[in-house]
Amino acid sequence: MTKLRFYGGIGVIGGTKIVLEQEGWRILLDMGLDIPEAGDLLRTPVVPRPGHELQDMLKLGIAPMISHVYKAEALTGMTDMKLSGGTDGHTALFLSHAHMDHIGLAGWVDEQIPIYAAEETVRLMDALEAAGEGLRGGAARVQNLPAAQPLQFGPFRVTRYDVDHDVEGASAYAIETAAGVVAYTGDFRLHGRHPEKIRSFAQAVHGARLLITEGTTLASDFRFTVRTEAQVDAAFAQAFAELPGLLLTTLYPRNLERIAALLALAHGANREFVWPPAMAKLFRNWGFEHIKSWGEDVQTADIAQNPGHYVLQLSLSHLPELLDLPAGPGTVFLHANGEPLGTFDPRYSLLQDWLNMRRIPFWQVGTGGHAYPDDIHRLVEWVAPEIVMPIHSPAPERLIPPPGTRRWMPQRGVSEYNVMQR
Ligand SMILES: [Zn+2]
Repeated sequence: MTKLRFYGGIGVIGGTKIVLEQEGWRILLDMGLDIPEAGDLLRTPVVPRPGHELQDMLKLGIAPMISHVYKAEALTGMTDMKLSGGTDGHTALFLSHAHMDHIGLAGWVDEQIPIYAAEETVRLMDALEAAGEGLRGGAARVQNLPAAQPLQFGPFRVTRYDVDHDVEGASAYAIETAAGVVAYTGDFRLHGRHPEKIRSFAQAVHGARLLITEGTTLASDFRFTVRTEAQVDAAFAQAFAELPGLLLTTLYPRNLERIAALLALAHGANREFVWPPAMAKLFRNWGFEHIKSWGEDVQTADIAQNPGHYVLQLSLSHLPELLDLPAGPGTVFLHANGEPLGTFDPRYSLLQDWLNMRRIPFWQVGTGGHAYPDDIHRLVEWVAPEIVMPIHSPAPERLIPPPGTRRWMPQRGVSEYNVMQR
């Protein structure tokens, strides 16, 4: 029997943890942390209890209660729950991409359990670790799984496919099981730089037994504007060319492909990006050249001398610097998916208050990493699976399957499915 179990990502965005089981072997797809929200019991100012961090997350249901997944030492002294640490030799973890809601618990996974991902994901996780933004629980030892090269693991054959998302190394997976092909999209989009990637994946898994798809944007309303990654580039190019003053930005640092594009556009427009030191470190670790760090390579006084030459990534903890920065006419704050991540973030109004005080216009010029609702439906039509399961969405019921495809709606909490069931 082939069984599928969900430990998160149901009815919510993020926290994806999927387990596929057959003949005593297990495939884990992602080991994500839930996206922080207002009611989290571990929210600031709570700090993790030393030696109890994983155990506390297990007790709160943040980490799934699964034996033979976690490091034995992280479970030491936990007598109130029956949970075995260490590997059973029959478990492997496959990561879709380096976002915390997909990899956040991977640092707690036993080191003997093989972990696979795209080469770019391995590199990015290493670069984050070296920049001091690594995983809690310790660095995960992740192996590169080349695209389109099947890997046999017990009774499963697992193939990784490249997809486009707002982070490099994003992957979808196809797992050949006794019940047929189980395909998992990870997070993807069609409005980025590489829409052909998810198309190839769809072709490869056409007619799959089961398609598990992300559905992040299904909850969005009609005011949702569609913008492509190419339009983001164009908006920045125009700002670089036409605005005479200092430009301020908040870019999402893990979207390294966009960072690379904007670095090139700035260079072409005789503009220079200046980054907070931690971000500069990440970009250097990734391999970008001529990265300038604020307070180290470029001082506020340098910016004041020639404001129109600079584009400054302003982190929210440095907002009082706006009192000294030369924000004159022609200064605009360009928000492109960096922090604050949305209006739900309490720091959003804080940023607005500071910008209002300095009379700096706020332009939203980014675009998200998740497929628009029409594109999610397009993918399901391309794959034409027997069954589709929408996850990673507050409104999975808005995914309407095409004729010939059934929809299974995963239940909240731990839920189990027999993939063979007709
Ligand atoms: Zn993601």
